[in-house]
Amino acid sequence: MSNPTITRFAPSPTGFIHVGNLRTALMNYLIARKAGGTFILRIDDTDPERSKEEYVDGIKEDLTWLGLHWDRVERQSERLDQYHAAAETLREKGRFYEAFETPTELDLKRKKQLNMGKPPVYDRAALNLSDADKAKLREERGNGVWRFKLDQQRIEWADGILGDISIDAASVSDPVLIRGDGQILYTLASVVDDTEMGVTHVVRGSDHVTNTATQIQIMQALGHSHPSFAHHSLLTGPQGEALSKRLGTLALRDLRAQGIQPFALLSLMARLGSSDPVEMRTDMESLIEGFDINRFGSAPTKFDVRDLFPLTGRYLQTLSLEQVQDQITDLGVPADKAAQFWAVTRENIETMKDLAPWWTMFREGADPVIEDDDKEFVAQAMDMLPDMPFDETTWGSWTAAVKDATGRKGRGLFRPLRLALTGQEHGPEMAAVMPLLQVVKAKG
Ligand code: GLU
Repeated sequence: MSNPTITRFAPSPTGFIHVGNLRTALMNYLIARKAGGTFILRIDDTDPERSKEEYVDGIKEDLTWLGLHWDRVERQSERLDQYHAAAETLREKGRFYEAFETPTELDLKRKKQLNMGKPPVYDRAALNLSDADKAKLREERGNGVWRFKLDQQRIEWADGILGDISIDAASVSDPVLIRGDGQILYTLASVVDDTEMGVTHVVRGSDHVTNTATQIQIMQALGHSHPSFAHHSLLTGPQGEALSKRLGTLALRDLRAQGIQPFALLSLMARLGSSDPVEMRTDMESLIEGFDINRFGSAPTKFDVRDLFPLTGRYLQTLSLEQVQDQITDLGVPADKAAQFWAVTRENIETMKDLAPWWTMFREGADPVIEDDDKEFVAQAMDMLPDMPFDETTWGSWTAAVKDATGRKGRGLFRPLRLALTGQEHGPEMAAVMPLLQVVKAKG
């Protein structure tokens, strides 16, 4: 039997989840669930300055809101011993070296290389330092950074989305795994976690492709095989513009505050950028069933936040009165009108926020829209309007009577009456609207 599938979502708690990292979370979640495996929430918090407990809580809250339940939480800040042990192994194997260049010096080196038309790869000058040199530098500058010494050969893997990848390690700088102040960096921590936790599939953004190349070598140096990797494309705005700067405004909590429903987001993100069409899913099982990582392409994926609104509307249409009863009660809709109110509004809203104006309209009456040519006609029709309360038959009998009295029919009959009663050109069936109307302003 093959290993049980284990995936992880590994956010750094330096911000809230946005649509970009939701995609990563969702893909890893769906792969685990589809295989009946394990989904780990890993908090990448080795940076004590930037990591905030507030974001850890926020990330959990957002995933819970989406229904992406994790099987367990791991925190990198609690695993520092394991990372130091791995660092020691790398040292013993001669794959780890201390380097002392300052950021300014490194910058200068890079500029020189670029000027000479060379790739800006770290020149490994530190490998030539004697112990005495290092002792002296340590004294002058404090501890150096620890770099992993890459094997300068091609690093290859079959990527679940990008296909066969081959990267020349000579074109990549030896990655820094431990900072001068002793802080363990993500690359090392991630490698140790992925191997020790038995992670079988890693899905992350294509901005991690070079990391993957170096991580494969570090895993091998530590004596482990590596998981399967898949790198999804990055999201762009609707015109293909970079989204990175706007991601801050696309945080899940902001979308939630705007009334976006989890299944609208999940349905879109489980398919956007794949060759399968976006389909409205209303339960997790069918979302899992319909997901296939191999259907995703490498091209940047266009994302338009506006698409989430009609999808939310479609999701809301599937809800029963029971599921929305509380919100409808909160609006002040009387119990005996709730079913009718939901039946009339459900197909005419994008988010639940749109319900309030509907109820206001029914309760207070709409400002009538009456075109000049219809003034007399509307006035005559309003005189014929029966007294309240209206019921389901009111619209039919009233418009029949108005038709007889005025000779108007079809659009010429119905349109001005709808405009006079609701102020809107389009909307729900008027027969169903009438019993909800409590004030008719057009009646004067
Ligand atoms: N903390 C890393 C990030 O948020 C995780 C990347 C990974 O999945 O390995 O980019």
